[in-house]
Amino acid sequence: MTLSSPSHKQPHRWGYKNSAFELNEDGTIQFTSTQPEYAFFANQPLPNFATFIQETLDISLDKNQQNVEASQKRIPPSHVSEEFAKAMEQMFPKEQFTTENQERLIHSHGQTTTDEVYKVVYNGTLTRTVDMVLFVRSSEDCRNIIQLAKEHNICLVPYGGGTSVSSALLLPENETRTIVSVDTKHMNQILSIDENNQLVRVQAGMVGQDLEKQLAEKGYTVGHEPDSIEFSTVGGWVSTFASGMKRHKYGNIEDIVVDFELLTPNGTLEQKSTFDRSAIGVQPRSFTLGSEGNIGIITEATLKIHPLPEVKQFNSMVFPNVENGIKLLKELSQTHPIPASVRLVDNPQFRFGLSLKVPPTDFLTKTIDSIKKFVLLKIKKMDPMQMCLATVLMEGSQAEVAQQQSTITRLAKKHKAVLAGESNGKRGYLLTNLIAYIRDFLADHHCIGETLETTVPWSQIESLCAAVNRTVQEQHKKHKLTGNPYCSYRITQLYHSSVCIYFTIGLVIKEVEKPEEVFAQIEESIRETVLEHGGSVSHHHGIGKLRKRFMDNSLTSTTKGALKAIKKELDPQNIFGIQNNVLGDAS
Ligand SMILES: Cc1cc2nc3c(=O)[nH]c(=O)nc-3n(C[C@H](O)[C@H](O)[C@H](O)COP(=O)(O)OP(=O)(O)OC[C@H]3O[C@@H](n4cnc5c(N)ncnc54)[C@H](O)[C@@H]3O)c2cc1C
Repeated sequence: MTLSSPSHKQPHRWGYKNSAFELNEDGTIQFTSTQPEYAFFANQPLPNFATFIQETLDISLDKNQQNVEASQKRIPPSHVSEEFAKAMEQMFPKEQFTTENQERLIHSHGQTTTDEVYKVVYNGTLTRTVDMVLFVRSSEDCRNIIQLAKEHNICLVPYGGGTSVSSALLLPENETRTIVSVDTKHMNQILSIDENNQLVRVQAGMVGQDLEKQLAEKGYTVGHEPDSIEFSTVGGWVSTFASGMKRHKYGNIEDIVVDFELLTPNGTLEQKSTFDRSAIGVQPRSFTLGSEGNIGIITEATLKIHPLPEVKQFNSMVFPNVENGIKLLKELSQTHPIPASVRLVDNPQFRFGLSLKVPPTDFLTKTIDSIKKFVLLKIKKMDPMQMCLATVLMEGSQAEVAQQQSTITRLAKKHKAVLAGESNGKRGYLLTNLIAYIRDFLADHHCIGETLETTVPWSQIESLCAAVNRTVQEQHKKHKLTGNPYCSYRITQLYHSSVCIYFTIGLVIKEVEKPEEVFAQIEESIRETVLEHGGSVSHHHGIGKLRKRFMDNSLTSTTKGALKAIKKELDPQNIFGIQNNVLGDAS
């Protein structure tokens, strides 16, 4: 069977082919989908969403004036020498590799809005595309392609789910060698489960949701749940230093991954025996976590597993303002155990979420909703332009969840929050999986949207958020953009001294020449503001090529030199020439 990209997935935009936000003839918006997991939201009218978008951004949604996708993509020709083509035919069955245009374009980008998706979808092209795609099925295949690449001086780019949002998959324009994308998606097996020691060994191309489904059948979970879990892979998580929504319970990827196999041009990087902790000096895992495709292919990983939680319970809290919400989060972060996921959205994002609400049709829910509204607005006297929401997911034993529930209730009272119940919490949690579909819908209507995440100390949350908001307003003016700018944030992960903040920025780019370039400049200014106000260059999206120029802010030149020396040792020919982060600068 000829191997290929999954046919249920959009080739360039986000998500499943069968799922999209659509503008109806009557001017309302609807999310259509046949995915069972979206049933809570799909195929129902969203009467307030179009109005919210039009009023917030000051635009009119018009089917006849949509940004039109380039139907014919212009794909640079493939350059593969005769000798290399012959060597490939001798090494691999021909159904495993291809120079077909569509596959090459799919494998030449990730999901970064401006650098990648916008250019491919609307401009119909990228300056550089891979010359060949190889679908590997085993570690042996990976070893063989690395050997061939060394013999023929080929550049290799590992490819997982293609969900990168740091331009990590964007190809260097100055790369003159043949580029082969090494797609790991068919390395998608659980190799073994060690129930006694609570570990799973998996192939690195396994997609997150498949891993969770298969483990759940055996009563286990890894618990790593990034918003991209439907498409991102284990190898991608390790390589980008990912973080999931339930990190308070299960940890970030560095807490979850115990061991791995990374094949480099100079041999295998792995720890010979697997322990939770082993004081062997400098840890090889440090070079793998965050390696972003620069030194080799991660082929297998050992991850921690946990029995499925006895109880899984959602809740939510409405706050009179975001300041109260932050105070509650800080106190909550000092309790133990913290709920698996706690996310606080600011007022603009709260109103955005409300606009996506499917109105209840039955009398009982309608009545309950009006009572809730009455309590919040009339009795608690909350201001709709200040209110914000936190969604909570608790997982664990009956006793643990009961304890967390009681902590939430106590803190909510202290910080003047109103508990808003399970269904709002669940809905808020699940809605994040749909945000990227909204990004694509808005791009069709001349609005570019992007998320930007950072780690920031507790003490600087408010000043940083205010500064980002100011920068967005100033940039909107500076570039004479039409409409209103949109800037909102949510706090998604809590740490001892800091939090992770996700900003969502939306700007109208109608009648702007080269909008993707203008937006990219604006994004750079926002990132500068984040750094000036005490934020990190990234919490989990990684550096790739998008944030490379900010590395001086994070590493000294001596540190950079040491990292480059590692790259030179592992990959002296620069076979993995994707040029991400500092490691990729060593060539
Ligand atoms: C809608 C959306 C939501 C997201 N939510 C989150 C989130 O909650 N948390 C989070 O951390 N990230 C998130 N991301 C970012 C992205 O999903 C992560 O960076 C993810 O870890 C990338 O995995 P992937 O398999 O898609 O890797 P890819 O995008 O295919 O590759 C990313 C990088 O890793 C390298 N790579 C991939 N596989 C391997 C391998 N086997 N060996 C060596 N290198 C490899 C590639 O060369 C590339 O440099 C989100 C992205 C989107 C679009």
